[in-house]
Amino acid sequence: MEKITARIGKRVLIGPGHPIVVQTMCNTHTSDVDATVAQCRRLAAAGAEMIRITVPGLQDVPHMAEISSRLRAEGIVTPLVADIHFSSATAIAIAPIVEKVRINPGNFHRDHAQARSQFGHLLEVCRKHGTAIRIGVNHGSLGSYITNLYGNTPLGMAKAAMEWLEMCLDADFRNVVVSLKSSNTVVMVQAYRLLEEMMESRGVVFPLHIGVTEAGNGDSGRIKSCIGCASLLSKGLGNTVRVSLTEDPEAELPAARYLADRYSRGLESSLVSSEIADGTVLASYEAPSRERLILDAACDWGPALLDREIDEVRFSGTIAGEPIGDDLAAYLSDEIMQASRRRFYKPEYIACPGCGRTMYDLQKAFEEVKARTSHLKGMVIAVMGCIVNGPGEMADADWGYVGEGNGKVSIYRGKTAVLRHVPEADAPRKLLSLIEDSL
Ligand code: SF4
Repeated sequence: MEKITARIGKRVLIGPGHPIVVQTMCNTHTSDVDATVAQCRRLAAAGAEMIRITVPGLQDVPHMAEISSRLRAEGIVTPLVADIHFSSATAIAIAPIVEKVRINPGNFHRDHAQARSQFGHLLEVCRKHGTAIRIGVNHGSLGSYITNLYGNTPLGMAKAAMEWLEMCLDADFRNVVVSLKSSNTVVMVQAYRLLEEMMESRGVVFPLHIGVTEAGNGDSGRIKSCIGCASLLSKGLGNTVRVSLTEDPEAELPAARYLADRYSRGLESSLVSSEIADGTVLASYEAPSRERLILDAACDWGPALLDREIDEVRFSGTIAGEPIGDDLAAYLSDEIMQASRRRFYKPEYIACPGCGRTMYDLQKAFEEVKARTSHLKGMVIAVMGCIVNGPGEMADADWGYVGEGNGKVSIYRGKTAVLRHVPEADAPRKLLSLIEDSL
């Protein structure tokens, strides 16, 4: 079995035997070089070991070059990853400038034959410049040639990744990391497990970038991310992690660092005891903080709930010596049950983290949509940052709220836009009235 380690820049190694690498992504506009450099500076200081930056088109290649050279001149050597959608030419143009290029097979090129040919060119440029590649498959944006064969499924995601990994192997290009992200923890975990089996059967195992995409924010986003990632990391799958939150990117890093430390540096849970009766676990903690309790509990019990090894989890114990309290214990149980997709007590929100393509105040809009729709238990509502990628990435959302830019929003029912150009100030109310009319 060949187990591959990817090298990102001079220092970062992603693969078996190496500590899990923590990464995040800028949400500044790439053309705003000052803001992006400043954000990278903050992220590097906060512990990001790789930083991804969107490169929407060829016009942004010089901006990325300037960002890179300014950071290097300051002595910040954190590898930069260019995030590419819909422009294979941009991937090829940016490859000499950055340490890694992320491409999405589902939108690398409109035409599948052209996509394969352009990917061959990209591999040659990356080989020449020592640039790594991430094959970043997303549940919501599989190519039609894949969904026609396998549907929008974990199997389709794993097959899509394998096709592109085979192209890398055909070209003898091995500096590759692969990801299969979904906002649905069950889909995400199944997809990664299937891919691992396929790679093992093939005899070549590439390193995995893992994460739950569009996880939302707050406790829910962290719990969902921990459950998805812990289900893989606890079985030895996963070499680099991003916790994707609709918050400032700095806020993603503590949860990602927790996962890396727990699964590659021996950080222990604050769980002190547990017992199980009729499928229900009673777990007692002595946690140093509320934040730590949430992360520990999600990682301790989420994987077993997701895999249906247990049916329910309840909590007791202390936080910094004070009793956890019935309300927090019940809330934590509800959140972990929902993130494991075992019991839904509120709507299921899909919200992207935002990036340089975001043209509106995504974090504020997400809070407003949540405030208006919190009573719609079980409904799947997506809040997405851009009209280019957002509708495709919403996967199985019942309703979507997608920023168009210029103060306007599009509202989707499933994959269909039902209202376009809604003024932002009115859009959360419009969304709710459309949902209520449909009930
Ligand atoms: S959907 Fe969100 S994260 Fe994805 S490209 Fe658009 S703004 Fe960026």
